[in-house]
Amino acid sequence: MHHHARLGSAIANMRCAKVLLLVSSLMLLPCTTLWGQPYQGPIIDAHGYLGASFNWEIMVEAMDRNNVTQRTVMARYYPGGPRDLPGSDEDAVRLAGRYPGRFFPLVGMQLPLLTGSHKWRSPDREVERLIAETERKLASGRFFGIGEFIVRHWSYSSGPHAEQENPIYSTFTRRMSAIAARFEAPMVVHMEGYPALVDDFSRLLAEYPNARFVWAHNCGRSKVPVIRSMLARHPNLFCDLAGMTNVGTTGYGTGWPRMEEFTALIEQDGVLYPDMKALYEEFPDRFMLGMDVAHAPGNNLQNYSRRVNRFRDLLGQLKPQTAKKFAETNAIRIFKLSSAVRR
Ligand SMILES: [Zn+2]
Repeated sequence: MHHHARLGSAIANMRCAKVLLLVSSLMLLPCTTLWGQPYQGPIIDAHGYLGASFNWEIMVEAMDRNNVTQRTVMARYYPGGPRDLPGSDEDAVRLAGRYPGRFFPLVGMQLPLLTGSHKWRSPDREVERLIAETERKLASGRFFGIGEFIVRHWSYSSGPHAEQENPIYSTFTRRMSAIAARFEAPMVVHMEGYPALVDDFSRLLAEYPNARFVWAHNCGRSKVPVIRSMLARHPNLFCDLAGMTNVGTTGYGTGWPRMEEFTALIEQDGVLYPDMKALYEEFPDRFMLGMDVAHAPGNNLQNYSRRVNRFRDLLGQLKPQTAKKFAETNAIRIFKLSSAVRR
């Protein structure tokens, strides 16, 4: 599999024009017939963040320059450093108000108060208050989902919130699932695909069939058979490809901050692995894109463009109708973004 991908990427890296010359003299085939040109249409960034240090103008400019029309925003309440201050749901709502139709706040769950698995098993007063506030916020009609729930997270920075090990099937997640079902607001979950956690997630998905779940980062970087089995069994499960672009810098798509027996990447050098590509064509209605810019220093035009462009290359390898669903249609349906027009 990897050898084929390398060969494919080697070919793709050749100047298209040169290949076009070589081939067209023989068969008059345009490049696009051979391996597809990058996806050209509008894109929705269905995995976005906000912190107090994010520059809003830069966010909008990066979207405009890359034809990214809409973006979800999840407040990151964890502190990132002196130049990467924590955000809030209130900021996310202000951002959405300032640029109508472009940003869609989710009720943020990257909260220091959720550190400690005992709080997920038996919510304390703080967590009870969070559950009540989440209901109130969803009832306001200003929020389009809940997340990201940090269930199993690998440490890539110092600080007490980096390494997280929380139960996916717990009092807290069950109560939130009931709320998510009632308000038809999806829950975005970050959970590295440990087999025992995947089984527990299955239980939660089956128990709340009317709640929609978005398992971030290509379903916790799981391998194809695991993702296929989960999607086949649970029609209420969706995945985003946030952070899975392997653009050579730090990102989940490069196997960073670590890899385990159960983790997988989706691409190498801009070429989808064949088994992953087959999975995407098998489930064209279940995946979305996400740029996964979670920290203020990464909120710049170069970083954003690099991720969008890599997604455009990857989408170009899918059937056009699948690419459009991944880029736009699925996010609109799953997060009910079209309902925002009426507000
Ligand atoms: Zn995440």
